[in-house]
Amino acid sequence: MSCYLCREESRISTLGYYCHNCKKIQDLISVYGKRVYEVLEEVLVRKEAQQKHKIVQEIKKEVSRKNE
Ligand SMILES: [Zn+2]
Repeated sequence: MSCYLCREESRISTLGYYCHNCKKIQDLISVYGKRVYEVLEEVLVRKEAQQKHKIVQEIKKEVSRKNE
């Protein structure tokens, strides 16, 4: 049976819902609470957004150079 969270790995046990790695996330949430979501958001989502922003800026520079 696959993990309820990642849906890829096998569950640790038939009574548990999560795989080994996702169980660690559950443990982190029980210790740190909402901070876990904030960290994920800041690190993963924002970095990706910043990368996209950077790419857009570089494309704009390139286009304006070509138009000069
Ligand atoms: Zn999992």
